[in-house]
Amino acid sequence: MHLISNVNLLDRNDRWIWCLDREKGFLVKSVYYFLNKALLPQYEITPLEIFTFKNLWKSSVPSKVSWSGQLLLDKIPTRQNLYYRGVSWNTYVMCAMCGGEAEMSMHLFFHCHYAAAIWYVVARWLGVIMVLPSNMLMLMV
Ligand SMILES: [Zn+2]
Repeated sequence: MHLISNVNLLDRNDRWIWCLDREKGFLVKSVYYFLNKALLPQYEITPLEIFTFKNLWKSSVPSKVSWSGQLLLDKIPTRQNLYYRGVSWNTYVMCAMCGGEAEMSMHLFFHCHYAAAIWYVVARWLGVIMVLPSNMLMLMV
């Protein structure tokens, strides 16, 4: 009796209420935001990250062609990705150009000095002055 003593009964039909959004009801979006907040470590998103992700998907180039999306999602067919996906059984995943590190997207685009030399030659050929960014987010700016 103590538990229900404060309950006021209304003259309405009972109905289900989605606690995460009482106005609109159940939405997958509300579950996503709830789980995202509950499960992922919260950190301050930098203005650069906001700008990058806001503009990344606005490209007029189809996503299957856009190498920036492929690079961001690490879907470039590098030796390491091919091995992880079971496409290649070769356990030697070191960079084909320098052999110094595992051949991953980030290495090929940002850290391999052999690849960087090629990028600079291509940029010079195109008449573009280029400085390789240190990470993926800087590339998207
Ligand atoms: Zn390399």
